Amino acid sequence: MTAENPQTIYLKDYQAPAYLVDHVALEFDLHPTATRVRSTLKFRPNPDSSNSEFFLHGENLTFLSAYINGAAVTPIMSDAGLTCNVPDGPFIWQSEVEINPSANTELSGLYMSNGMFCTQCEAEGFRRITYYPDRPDVMAPFDVTVRSELPYALSNGEPMSSDGTTRRWQDPWPKPAYLFALVAGEFQVVSDHFTTASGKPVDLNIYVRDGDQDKCDFALEALKASMAWDERVYGREYDLSVFNIVAVDDFNMGAMENKGLNIFNSSAVLASPETTVDGNFERIEAIIAHEYFHNWTGNRITCRDWFQLSLKEGLTVFRDQQFSADMRGAEVRRIEDVTALRARQFREDSGPLAHPVRPESFVEINNFYTATVYEKGAELIRMLKLLVGDAAYKEALELYFARHDGQACTIEDWLAVFTDVTGQDLRQFKLWYSQAGTPIVRVRDHFADGTYELTLTQVTPPTPGQPNKQPLVIPIALGLLYPDGTEALATELLVLSDAEQSFCFSGLRAAPIPSLLRGFSAPVILQRKTSPAEHLVQLTHDPDLFNRFEASRELGKSALLAMLQTEAAPDDAYCTALLQVMVNEDLDPAFRAMCCTLPSQDEIAKTLTEQGQTPDPVAIDAAFHRLSEHVARQGQDALRALYHAHQLAGPFSPDAASCGARALSALALRLISYVDGGTLAAKQFATATTMSLQLPALGNLNRHAQGSEAISQFYQQWRNERLVIDKWFSLQVSTCPASQAVSVARNLLQHPDFTLKNPNRFRALVGALAMTPAAFHQADGSAYALVVDQLIALDDINPQLCARMTTVFETWRRYDGARQELMRAALCRLAAKPNLSRDTKEMVTRLLDA
Ligand code: ZN
Repeated sequence: MTAENPQTIYLKDYQAPAYLVDHVALEFDLHPTATRVRSTLKFRPNPDSSNSEFFLHGENLTFLSAYINGAAVTPIMSDAGLTCNVPDGPFIWQSEVEINPSANTELSGLYMSNGMFCTQCEAEGFRRITYYPDRPDVMAPFDVTVRSELPYALSNGEPMSSDGTTRRWQDPWPKPAYLFALVAGEFQVVSDHFTTASGKPVDLNIYVRDGDQDKCDFALEALKASMAWDERVYGREYDLSVFNIVAVDDFNMGAMENKGLNIFNSSAVLASPETTVDGNFERIEAIIAHEYFHNWTGNRITCRDWFQLSLKEGLTVFRDQQFSADMRGAEVRRIEDVTALRARQFREDSGPLAHPVRPESFVEINNFYTATVYEKGAELIRMLKLLVGDAAYKEALELYFARHDGQACTIEDWLAVFTDVTGQDLRQFKLWYSQAGTPIVRVRDHFADGTYELTLTQVTPPTPGQPNKQPLVIPIALGLLYPDGTEALATELLVLSDAEQSFCFSGLRAAPIPSLLRGFSAPVILQRKTSPAEHLVQLTHDPDLFNRFEASRELGKSALLAMLQTEAAPDDAYCTALLQVMVNEDLDPAFRAMCCTLPSQDEIAKTLTEQGQTPDPVAIDAAFHRLSEHVARQGQDALRALYHAHQLAGPFSPDAASCGARALSALALRLISYVDGGTLAAKQFATATTMSLQLPALGNLNRHAQGSEAISQFYQQWRNERLVIDKWFSLQVSTCPASQAVSVARNLLQHPDFTLKNPNRFRALVGALAMTPAAFHQADGSAYALVVDQLIALDDINPQLCARMTTVFETWRRYDGARQELMRAALCRLAAKPNLSRDTKEMVTRLLDA
């Protein structure tokens, strides 16, 4: 297998492993440039396999020696691993390799971050540490010895004897190699305790760089809450005497669920009122929970192969969403989750990168850690729960844990527990896992003689490799409202499983307004011609808060589309309605803030595309500012009152109510800044003692050209807080006038604090430019060129991150011919880079081919 000719791997080709591993012993002699790894593996032929070829994965390893049952052997080596003749029965394999963690800029395998040793093995990083059958269906207990002068050396499982510089760890739970972890370095440790439901004590530790020890409390609280929640809601107890978390600055993703030793991107764990905004607190709580929940859904029960990734990720996202809903309010969390789903997954599903929740093939598995596998995967579980009911869901999960503990499983295994518990045939439901694309549900309705007839049709558009789609099972939660806002029908569940189906409701006194897809009961695009009057009734009366939010969003979209398409003035009725919601004391402030935030610019672009039009991102941006200014002028006094009414006294707290109050006052401030040019924002900036107040103030100042002095002041204040400096980079490109963003970004690329080697920093600058639509889509193509220049430089350093970042181009076919040509040319330039990584090559090919 060469870089020029990357191999495609197919789900249908799955074969059980030829050999199983009964025990793993690893010995590490840590050295920054020359680490020695000795492994002793107990192999035995797999009785369920007819294949007897012995193959071990291995990449970037310097081979030193190998022995079978104590006798030296000479394996046949390739770029991907080795093969060797082996005995017929069980045998012991030993090997020694050398690796260079300092040269590892890919952040996969064993690498260095700020002088600490750290690993990342999911999905296929373990093969960069030693020769091994690096596939998730090979599970074994691990025994790890680490020799190092560093004060701490950690691995999975339980700490064993330690003498001076030699430390031993034993993980009794059989695990696939992707869950292996090793960390060594000089740390500060913040500790706590948890007692499990059956009374077992667990030590909880967070390991951080010196200076960060005051930023661990929030994560520890979130961890304890997660542990208690998983016992209470899923009956899952923790299974080791220690749970360690390490924060690292250089990390490709959010965090990793290695058994007993979670490794976190420092941005996903460190928090303090001074340096962290409310949204970060929420994200940290959710990621801590997510990684902790993996201990059962992912670690105790893992995936048979990487095509089954959603088995652990979809389920674990669903579980962390349930947790966050319990911690912070179900409705508000649901709105946030759906907003993210639409922004990321619907976007992915409508472009050249669309793929099923369970993909059928891949070149590089790292390219499939996507919103579809994670977020759409979670939606499938939410639907399943809705379809079978809460009690059956609980029973099915019990059965899943009982039946599959210690196994590597498939989506079939997962669905089988539901079929076994409920007797339901889930074959049609299973299409959700194999069919890509977001279904469109069209609604026609008709009222006569007290009877309301609702006709629903479904169609899933073609996606790459899937021209024709079958009807899916779509749970649609429905309520009916009378035009005066009273309830005509409480929530009922309709199940749409044909291409077209009708439902009748009789005994109604007037034509009702349908409240469809309550709580966003299915990940579909709903289309119905709804009048503004009907939306206004929903906005003010729908008992389903999600659908109130939807009504606001639809009204906002209509107002913006009218401005763009007919040069209409900003819609006064919409602005009035928005201001009424904003000041409605009966509603939760967090909900009001979400409900009154305009739909995103990307969403407007997508809607225009769905209507067969060509979006102009610069015009969309202008309309946004015009509409915001209009709301602000219309509501000046009310907004000021609202702002002042939601200032909190007393010490900072990141609880849901406080975050909600701050979100509402931030919305008011943002709008007020359109009319006062930033005066109030300047005042807030000057007096802020927390990042949740300081950062939005700075954004408003920058948006209204009052930012330059504050920007340097902010830098001076926070130059030693790298997570805050990430925000400083992002904010400058995302809040400056779109026409200046490229030159701002160019200057920042020269800043001494910018580096391609830190993924957070790269995303903060280059990602922020690419994710600000009007800045990215400047008509001259300068932002496309800048982003691709950086990707070309990044690909040699960190191919995984580079490949992931190419997704900023996934909507390129939406735009006008000139922009399309500029984006295509930029992508072709990336494609033509010498020695392009396999990761990036796969992405660019998919982006250009479809
Ligand atoms: Zn996960």
